[in-house]
Amino acid sequence: MRILVTGGAGFIGSHLIDRLMAEGHEILCLDNFYTGSKQNISHWLGHPRFELIRHDITEPIRLEVDQVYHLACPASPVHYQFNAIKTVKTNVIGTLNMLGLAKRVKARFLLASTSEVYGDPDVHPQPETYRGNVNCIGIRSCYDEGKRMAETLAFDYHREHDLDIRVARIFNTYGPRMLENDGRVVSNFIAQALRGTPLTVYGDGSQTRSFCYVSDLVEGLMRLMNGEQTGPINLGNPGEYSILELAQKIQTLINPNAELVYKPLPSDDPKQRQPDITLAKTYLSWEPTIPLDQGLALTIADFQTRLGLAPGP
Ligand code: NAD
Ligand code: UDP
Ligand code: UDP
Repeated sequence: MRILVTGGAGFIGSHLIDRLMAEGHEILCLDNFYTGSKQNISHWLGHPRFELIRHDITEPIRLEVDQVYHLACPASPVHYQFNAIKTVKTNVIGTLNMLGLAKRVKARFLLASTSEVYGDPDVHPQPETYRGNVNCIGIRSCYDEGKRMAETLAFDYHREHDLDIRVARIFNTYGPRMLENDGRVVSNFIAQALRGTPLTVYGDGSQTRSFCYVSDLVEGLMRLMNGEQTGPINLGNPGEYSILELAQKIQTLINPNAELVYKPLPSDDPKQRQPDITLAKTYLSWEPTIPLDQGLALTIADFQTRLGLAPGP
């Protein structure tokens, strides 16, 4: 098939492209390189089945494809808050353009939505039926509400134009190729521990997240795309850890003497987050296979290579 991956030069998109290329598909990777980099897909440049398109999805574009994986959108709070209005435009106008494209060529369209649509959840763990607790005027809302509108658009194209859609609600995902300065907790803690600077714990570290290794997530996305369920379907690892527990794990893996410093908790930071993956298990026969310790070890090895640092103890 000919497959468009928007945000293909980013963290998840580049891993997805590796899998799709390995399966023999023809790939169009579209990216404006806001948070993605050519480095992530450099190994495919020049391959006859791979094409790189520098383009911003807030502008229309005409392409002929069979499937669209729509991932283009900065995912880290630091990056999506840097230009919040642009984040809204990417999620709303950008998603509209990609839906228009998919409609014109009758391509199947998968939206990379997020657990952030649940906001600061008061239902735990979060099933797809939960409608969320989002602050529509807060500093996270450009992303949370942007993704909620992207889901709305996808379902309206489905109802009005019979577009074949899939919606994945992705929970915190980590792995090799995360930017070391991207501000997310796993990349921050690993880069800090490797550099010997204190690990920055926001708040008292009691807030929880559930971390999915990127290869598991990519498998889930591909099963969803090629299955029969429209979604929305949660994709994430139900293993839930407090941020303090995560810091301690990374201390153990890299440097038991690494210091912790406590910083203020950003506003609207969700207190808890854990996916209910019953639907994914039932309809996609999918569940994560990589435990956190193993995934962290693989991620740490990648950071060591990229940062040019010697292996830790
Ligand atoms: P990322 O920032 O590494 O990748 C996003 C990519 O989109 C980058 O390559 C960036 O340059 C590109 N992009 C951003 N705005 C664009 C625009 N206007 N036009 C064209 N390209 C643009 O992030 P990621 O972690 O790989 O996330 C990929 C997708 O998955 C995002 O949609 C994100 O919201 C979603 N998601 C990720 C996570 C996670 O934990 N990583 C969790 C939930 C949802
Ligand atoms: N669009 C695009 N590429 C295409 C088809 C459409 O970028 O191949 C854009 C188009 O410019 C429009 C959006 O997608 O802004 C929605 O398109 P649709 O045809 O659904 O709506 P309309 O153009 O009728 O407003
Ligand atoms: N966090 C932290 N230290 C950091 C970066 C993040 O304690 O250096 C916390 C953050 O406040 C949040 C959790 O880790 O409670 C996850 O943050 P991240 O930005 O990775 O993802 P999100 O909040 O979008 O789930």
